[in-house]
Amino acid sequence: MTPFTFDNSYARDLPGFYTDFAGDPAPNPHILRFNTALATDLGLDPATLNTPQGAHYLTGSQTPNGAHPLAMAYAGHQFGGFSPRLGDGRALLLGEIIAPNGQRYDLHLKGSGRTPFSRGGDGKAVLGPVLREYLMGEAMAALSVPTTRALAATTTGAKVLRETGMEPGAVLARIASSHLRVGTFQYFAARGEPHNVERLLAYATTRHDPGADALTFLRNTITRQAQLVAKWMGVGFIHGVMNTDNTSISGETIDYGPCAFLDHYDPATVFSSIDRQGRYAYANQPGILRWNLARLAETLLPLLSPDEATAIALATAEIDAFVPVFEAAWTDMMRAKLGLHAAQPGDMDLATDFLTAMQGQGADFTNSFRALADVLRGDDAALAAQFTDPSVARAWQAQWQARLATDPDTPADQMGRAAEMDLANPLYIPRNHSVENALTAATAGDMAPFDALMDVLADPFTKRAGLGAYAQPAPDSFTNFRTFC
Ligand code: AMP
Ligand code: MG
Ligand code: MG
Repeated sequence: MTPFTFDNSYARDLPGFYTDFAGDPAPNPHILRFNTALATDLGLDPATLNTPQGAHYLTGSQTPNGAHPLAMAYAGHQFGGFSPRLGDGRALLLGEIIAPNGQRYDLHLKGSGRTPFSRGGDGKAVLGPVLREYLMGEAMAALSVPTTRALAATTTGAKVLRETGMEPGAVLARIASSHLRVGTFQYFAARGEPHNVERLLAYATTRHDPGADALTFLRNTITRQAQLVAKWMGVGFIHGVMNTDNTSISGETIDYGPCAFLDHYDPATVFSSIDRQGRYAYANQPGILRWNLARLAETLLPLLSPDEATAIALATAEIDAFVPVFEAAWTDMMRAKLGLHAAQPGDMDLATDFLTAMQGQGADFTNSFRALADVLRGDDAALAAQFTDPSVARAWQAQWQARLATDPDTPADQMGRAAEMDLANPLYIPRNHSVENALTAATAGDMAPFDALMDVLADPFTKRAGLGAYAQPAPDSFTNFRTFC
């Protein structure tokens, strides 16, 4: 009995855009964690898939009936420099699933072995980073941020050499609305193959923008990504590798490598050890996104108009529109966090002023926003306690409360507003020290801290007894925390 019913449109519609490739045999595959809720949503039967046979399928070690495993071709600007040929160097698209809700999803295996795109890499993934992506992706989903999802983390039984020594090999089974990237378009544009860009556009619009022409597709992709990155900013997420090959067409967060969440607010925060210039710092993310979207627009020029000057004018107008589109998404997101109902002209400044107030004050981003509802509940000290100089907090708080008073639909019951704000301001995020602790224990064979953290992050907005430690910022020993990918 096969656990899957695949319908492989990418393989069928886009020959030449990939190489057929099956995964490496895994000596002793074992499903370490399986996402039963997601499997069920996808119409997959956990009883058939979360099995020893399923472990072979979920590592790429054996190919299930109906699958068409392949490595996708793509290019990408990595830290600003163009690489014409990246592609799935350690991943496979196993096949596509149509969920009971009618939506098509890719089932992708990351860490399944070397492919023709592997260059110098070993094609493998190890347990710590696989569980990191599992945890981060599921945490983002619970935070209502569009994201790829983790279906399973499966150990292969092989050991893999890393800087840290021999590590347990593992494969992440990942679900996405598609794995199309800005870099997929760049691959064919850079080869001077506009007919292939056109084929890719036709495929991408079928999946994401039925009926759209190139201009509408560009506009929609800009909107999806602007809304996504506004959500990142709202939860303090720093992706860490916003290369164009990691910028999805679907508007989902993709490729959780050196990502991490802000603790104290500093717009220049960078956690990734390889981001030495701070290109992908917290506050740079919207600007980098705009740059990445301009790279997408360039690939579409021949499809926007046969006249080059017209095409450039159309593309430029869309990229120029990014700023207002992003600012609107950001301000809407901030309004919810600040408990503001009706939009008013000064709202963006009010939000920016709060961030400015936090800076240099040691104020924890997550806990400062969360404290706002406590202020409404009568705990005046909650916000001030986040700041080294409480008078800075009080000055902004007065500004905010004056603005709140002008909301035409201010509920008589401030508790109602506070409860709404709690749903926009998470209490539990993946704190660097909690994540590290969970992954270190998991690599040593103890899954208890990982499971406990996953439970906490599954409901980030509801305060529960006994979880206070999960809402604490990292200890001082994490001041110079660095992530590796
Ligand atoms: P990333 O920085 O994770 O977006 O990866 C950029 C490129 O490097 C992609 O083409 C990946 O497939 C490739 N890559 C990353 N790690 C490995 C690895 N261990 N083996 C082979 N290719 C890899
Ligand atoms: Mg990537
Ligand atoms: Mg990666």
